[in-house]
Amino acid sequence: MPNIESSNTSALQQISLIEKRAHPLLICDVDEVLLQFIPHLERFMAQRGIAFKETAYRLKANMIDIRTGEYLSEQACMTVIHDFFESEVSKQEAVPHASDQLERLSKYSDIVILTNLPGAHNKTARQALLKSLGMDYPLITNEGPKGGAVAALCAERAHHPVFFIDDSPSNLLSVSKNTPQVQLVHFIADPRFFATAGDLPYVALKSNCWKETGDFIENLLVAAVK
Ligand SMILES: [Mg+2]
Repeated sequence: MPNIESSNTSALQQISLIEKRAHPLLICDVDEVLLQFIPHLERFMAQRGIAFKETAYRLKANMIDIRTGEYLSEQACMTVIHDFFESEVSKQEAVPHASDQLERLSKYSDIVILTNLPGAHNKTARQALLKSLGMDYPLITNEGPKGGAVAALCAERAHHPVFFIDDSPSNLLSVSKNTPQVQLVHFIADPRFFATAGDLPYVALKSNCWKETGDFIENLLVAAVK
């Protein structure tokens, strides 16, 4: 298991190119936060005779062969996810109101998009898609827990609020351990997976609605500058 403090050199190199300044920051994940992921992956899986066994927030140890009911091996699950991104990275749909709420919050804070995207070559396609959907912000591709990348992004922003939005409990935990000053939003767009996701004690908000998330963060950002 990767060390929770670890961060990969590629992400840190990308972060080194981003302008740092004493200003609030919003760090936002992509899959299941800005772009639809679970329902799209389910359609992709169904075309291959695969389904999730349970509405449970895990990708591995949850895919079954629809015909036999047998679980896929971890390697087979990883292959499905890899193939999904190779085929669909340019075709994912926006989560409702993600774009207009990011634009609203960009008046108060810098915005950086931090994504764990398999295949470095997929970054350009993801960047182009986000731009076409009105979400043209700096994009960092990361591997593994996000705590190290978030800590690097927080540099030179002491005394300014930083927010981190992600659907993955392990990413939220990693950030909470590394940078406890960062305010966390647990966001899961898919209503079924949102309903079954556990409540994490260290998050400020759990949401599946961008309008609610925008209101919540804007209130804190406005309060911080008073
Ligand atoms: Mg995600």
